[in-house]
Amino acid sequence: METSHILNFIRRTFNDAEGFIPLHAPFFGGKEKEYVTDTIDSTFVSSVGAYVTRFEEMMTEITGARYAIATVNGTTALHLALVLAGVKYGEEVITQSLTFVATANAIAHAGAIPVFTDVDKDTMGLSPAALQAFLEEHVMVNANGECINKTSGRRIAACVPMHTFGFPLRISELAAVCSKYNIPLVEDAAESLGSYVGDKHTGTFGLIGTFSFNGNKTVTCGGGGAIVTNDEAIAKKAKHLSTTAKIPHAYEFVHDDIGYNYRMPNLNAALACAQLEQLDAMLANKRELAEMYSNFFQGSSVSYVKEMYGTKANYWLNTVIFQDHAQQQAFLKESNDNKVMTRPIWRLMNRLPMYAHCQHGDLSNAEWLEERVVNIPSSVRK
Ligand SMILES: *Cc1c(COP(=O)(O)O)cnc(C)c1O
Repeated sequence: METSHILNFIRRTFNDAEGFIPLHAPFFGGKEKEYVTDTIDSTFVSSVGAYVTRFEEMMTEITGARYAIATVNGTTALHLALVLAGVKYGEEVITQSLTFVATANAIAHAGAIPVFTDVDKDTMGLSPAALQAFLEEHVMVNANGECINKTSGRRIAACVPMHTFGFPLRISELAAVCSKYNIPLVEDAAESLGSYVGDKHTGTFGLIGTFSFNGNKTVTCGGGGAIVTNDEAIAKKAKHLSTTAKIPHAYEFVHDDIGYNYRMPNLNAALACAQLEQLDAMLANKRELAEMYSNFFQGSSVSYVKEMYGTKANYWLNTVIFQDHAQQQAFLKESNDNKVMTRPIWRLMNRLPMYAHCQHGDLSNAEWLEERVVNIPSSVRK
């Protein structure tokens, strides 16, 4: 399929004949200004305030998780989630090599060493079969029930799958593999707000799930994140550590742990609340766009990625797969030269200098996708 034909379709769809078309622009169509102004008028702009509480309530309503804790961004949410899951300095955490760098960074921030396994070709998320194969070959469960990497001697302290571009991965199957090996499951659901497996929201299949509200995500509050869990003790500790771990007292400063000060400011939470009120409308708008793309690419040499049977994707970023690397590169160049913003999928984590020394399993699917996948403009259309 000719690139110019694709670019013309994108320009028609976004009703813009010659301007710059971004990959994903924020959409402010509700009470954003009203709520943000309200925080300023009230002087409660920082991390104590009614919008933070309201945001956390909305996140439990949306995800169905019992508890939600607001954080300053998705990276800190994941860092804190790993700490809460019991990840310690010098331990290992398994994740997919095909992910946004923040997933691996959060593991490193927790003092742990990432280990990379493959994704499934169809979901682009961590493959239960690849994880199983890696564990069979490389680990043992010791007398204390700990999963130990036989090569490094380190404990595998968590597994972090990521729902790529909002497409749910095989999370139930993955959870079963993790539980067989006693590995706590922490879901990086940064990209999958509004994505479900059956009627269960992504991010709620493991011990803890995390979300991001960065400027390029489906819902944004400038910068923000959230931790969700059904575990009361973890939720309490999450809130305690996300602040300064202060023991409640009318005026004394006594802290009983090393707090992270990762709490979301009320100013950002106000924006988040206004955005979440429009989540259903935004998801419907994005689904309509996905349908248009799907029809357009039907029967062409470029394959358009759709949600798997039994799942609901949020279609955060629309995704196409080219037949080979040369076609991917040619399309990236021509589209960006013509002010239609497109991006390749990420460079694999094990190719980045800071993670090049990390152990990894077979990565054939991740390598195949890395050479072919491109994201095309996906903003909510006005
Ligand atoms: C966006 C993102 C994050 C981090 O979110 P920030 O809010 O930008 O810190 C983490 N993981 C994945 C997969 C992401 O896409």
